[in-house]
Amino acid sequence: MLTILQLPVLNDNYIYLLHDPVSGETAAVDPAVAQPVLAALDQKGWRLTLILNTHHHGDHVGGNLELKQKTGCTVIAPLSDRNRIPGIDRGVVDGDEVTLGKHTANVISTPGHTSGHVVYHFAGDDTLFCGDTLFAMGCGRLFEGSAEQMWHSLQKLKALPAATRIYCAHEYTQANGWFALTVEPDNRQLQQRMEVINQLRANRLPTVPSTIEQELATNPFFREDSLALRETINMMGKKPVEVFAEVRRMKDSF
Ligand code: ZN
Ligand code: FE
Repeated sequence: MLTILQLPVLNDNYIYLLHDPVSGETAAVDPAVAQPVLAALDQKGWRLTLILNTHHHGDHVGGNLELKQKTGCTVIAPLSDRNRIPGIDRGVVDGDEVTLGKHTANVISTPGHTSGHVVYHFAGDDTLFCGDTLFAMGCGRLFEGSAEQMWHSLQKLKALPAATRIYCAHEYTQANGWFALTVEPDNRQLQQRMEVINQLRANRLPTVPSTIEQELATNPFFREDSLALRETINMMGKKPVEVFAEVRRMKDSF
């Protein structure tokens, strides 16, 4: 069993600490800042061995150097971002494997939000760390990629097992859901999910992780095939990638 600790930091970021009790190895996924990670490690009695970065944005790599200096951990990050991720030791590309004890993550390249973005899929643990590519009921903004690239990236995640737990890097779920309701107002599962989300947020509780299954049913960026969605946004008969691009464009100005 992989133990996963979720640390809310900054405005709406999540850092994840993954601990393998058998080997004693611990990884930090997208450490935006160092201090909360060091405090959690101290409290748990864990030693940081690895940092896994999904992309180069400051709110995902800001803690790299301090953590590396204080723990001697290894920094794993997308190879193509080697010149813009601080402290990188090992650059990874699509198809690479990363291990934490006996747990293995497959590296999946998901360009779109940034050109070098990767996600880490621990298939044996049904767990995905997807940074800013996929969010609960949303997806990342297109800063360095085209809608077509992002759509292809999301197709790879859509194909993962339905039970896969989605650990994204931001608590954006409620606002994403408000948008989702505008493009699919009659989606019953979406309405029901929003009731749960609103309750959680009213109590300041995290809405992450979700699952691929939940995202397939409610995430508008996974639902280009929904006739109700297509009808609402006037995109009947268009290609899936065109529907995706239109939904992304609408969300940008929501
Ligand atoms: Zn980002
Ligand atoms: Fe981010």
